[in-house]
Amino acid sequence: MKITKIMAVAAFLFTAPTIASSEIIPVSKETKEMAASLRDIAIKDDNAYELLKSLTTEVGARHPGTPGEKAGIEWGVKQLQALGFDKVYTEDVKMNGWIRLVETAEILVPSYQKMIITALGRSKSTPEGGLEAQIVHFESYADLEKTADGSLKGKIAFISNRMERLKNGGGYGPANIARSKGHELAAQKGAEALLIRSIGTDDHRNPHTGATNVAMGYTKVPAVALSNPDADQLVRLIAYGHHPKIRLNIQTKDLGAIVTKNVIGEITGRELPEEIVVIGGHLDSWDLGTGAVDDGAGVTIAMATGALIKNNTKMRPRRTIRVILWGAEELGLIGARAYAKARKADGTIAKHIIGSESDFGAGPVYGLQSSDNISTNAIHVIDTMAGIMGELGVTRRSGNTSGGPDMIPLAVLGVPAVNLMQDGTDYFDLHHTPDDTFDKVNPKHMRQNVAAWSVFAYIAAEWPGSFK
Ligand SMILES: [Zn+2]
Repeated sequence: MKITKIMAVAAFLFTAPTIASSEIIPVSKETKEMAASLRDIAIKDDNAYELLKSLTTEVGARHPGTPGEKAGIEWGVKQLQALGFDKVYTEDVKMNGWIRLVETAEILVPSYQKMIITALGRSKSTPEGGLEAQIVHFESYADLEKTADGSLKGKIAFISNRMERLKNGGGYGPANIARSKGHELAAQKGAEALLIRSIGTDDHRNPHTGATNVAMGYTKVPAVALSNPDADQLVRLIAYGHHPKIRLNIQTKDLGAIVTKNVIGEITGRELPEEIVVIGGHLDSWDLGTGAVDDGAGVTIAMATGALIKNNTKMRPRRTIRVILWGAEELGLIGARAYAKARKADGTIAKHIIGSESDFGAGPVYGLQSSDNISTNAIHVIDTMAGIMGELGVTRRSGNTSGGPDMIPLAVLGVPAVNLMQDGTDYFDLHHTPDDTFDKVNPKHMRQNVAAWSVFAYIAAEWPGSFK
């Protein structure tokens, strides 16, 4: 048994990669021309926009464990089949579900006012009927850290940090600690609940939900985001010298063990079908909106890219293009982690040549980044892709990348990645809010995205060299 296995490995080593990564393999003239032609077809094609319209209108929100998620998965399978993908299948992923039932808040003192709030992911419930407590204000997570443990007994901790608006979304990470870990810190300080200013850049009365660091069960205390105007209202009240008292009623439910799915469609490679170029987006969404910019746009951009390449190339690309509609991203990259774990276990991780995910809204692509682990002999290929995307307003950018949230588990296992950087200036106005709906999406930007993605996916699948 053992010897057979070693021989098989040896045979693989001697026969498999015909082209060593020590050579510089140019991108052929034909490949460049085909990539440019796909780009020019895509820029006139509304397939992604039409798919997004159908997904957000005929399905709607797709939160794990809900009928909407189930409908979304069925939609994904049906559409990939209708688009002519060679193989369409799903993979089950076990997880724990959570849903919100009731979420209300009111200022009681100094004057009665309703507030617009939403529970953060896996928030614990308040006692039935809610709890009443005074607010204690902290400008940041770091400020709450400085207060003495146990000192907030009978109070609600309120963190009011603001997220900075940046084109590349760079304001999100620093602000997000209040959302992800604030509940633990509030509990440590003795608070009854955590209230945060939404992690978002808008001034609309829409709260932004989002995951906490809890994978199953509940947060340590009820954890809630206020709409930004409501958070600012509380800050002003406190600045006047008031000690606002609020009533907070959060009722949520742990659904226990549920099954979500990754939905996969493939355009089978003509020469190296076992070698995989991964593109995709996440099919699940938060429950408040209809998941248009997060991440219906990414899902439909990837689907339309696969279909466009299949329908407009004389020969299939050399490698397989695997379009993955990831499951349960919002609750912690659950589908992506399961996918990577399974590929590590069965050894096919090494056949994942390069990948990327579209998960930053529906804004236009302006930059192309590549991961640091891409071979120096393959950098020219990424440069070539950026060059062909140039007409779309895309330029080559420095900086490392994992290729998007759902690519992280694959990147950790060494899969090279690119990032098609989107203009996210307005993304965090909508992200995780009831306002994440189809009307916000510009069809011209969707076409531009598919054009850029087609260049990447086609060249990655066609160029015969190794990215590693
Ligand atoms: Zn997303």
